[in-house]
Amino acid sequence: MKSRKSAAPVIIIIIFILAFAAFAFLTVRKSLENAALEEQLAASRMDAAIRTEAEEIRTAIAENEQTEYEAMLAERETLQSNMMATDEAELLMVVNPWNPVPEGYNPRAVDIGDEKEIDERAAGALAQMVNDCIAAGWAPVPLSGYRTHEYQQGLFDDKVQRVIMSGTSADQAEDKAAEEVAKPGTSEHELGLAMDIIDEYYTELDVVQEWTSTQKWLIEHCSEYGFILRYPNGTSDITGIIYEPWHYRYVGKKAAAEITELGITLEEYVELKG
Ligand code: ZN
Repeated sequence: MKSRKSAAPVIIIIIFILAFAAFAFLTVRKSLENAALEEQLAASRMDAAIRTEAEEIRTAIAENEQTEYEAMLAERETLQSNMMATDEAELLMVVNPWNPVPEGYNPRAVDIGDEKEIDERAAGALAQMVNDCIAAGWAPVPLSGYRTHEYQQGLFDDKVQRVIMSGTSADQAEDKAAEEVAKPGTSEHELGLAMDIIDEYYTELDVVQEWTSTQKWLIEHCSEYGFILRYPNGTSDITGIIYEPWHYRYVGKKAAAEITELGITLEEYVELKG
């Protein structure tokens, strides 16, 4: 009996101990679980922060690229419109006895074969015009395109000599010569935008050219290719050059069409455009 009596408290103590152990175990496990969860939470917060930062960087790069791209586009547009303005100014540049080729002008002459050169902006149009004239049954021959200043000087000096030999006094010879051969620096051929074209079967540079089928065709159609007959009959007072039904000047299609439509010279057209 005595032993039974003393057994009860022991059992209670043991139950207490077990209960405490279980409680402690659960508490520790719970706090371990919480710690793990917090760690996970912290990790995922860090992930989110990294993702946000990466996203910001990507956005910044994209914005930067967009800005750079827009700047590049704007720069290209400015360049293009400058080039177009330069092109238009050059294609309509008036060179005559009163307006010499500007100092430092850089002719953009290209070789078109047969020792001829013309401005690269006119080369394609010239080839097309000559080919179409031939296809129509006529015989155009490009005779003289771009000339260097030195070459023009040689032509002019020759002309002065011939004028003197024909009886003109030396002090008047230069002015007389200049009526037919432009003084060096005042020839459109030095711009590179002009081409003298003759008929293969009539090669003289005189008014008879206008009666050849080649010139008739060219005079009628040249504006479709961006060329004008630069020195029409009866315009010498304006152009400073005699009637030349063989000298074609490239001005571009739009200007050529307008000049032809209005029946005016390049000098008058430029004045009109102001
Ligand atoms: Zn000419």
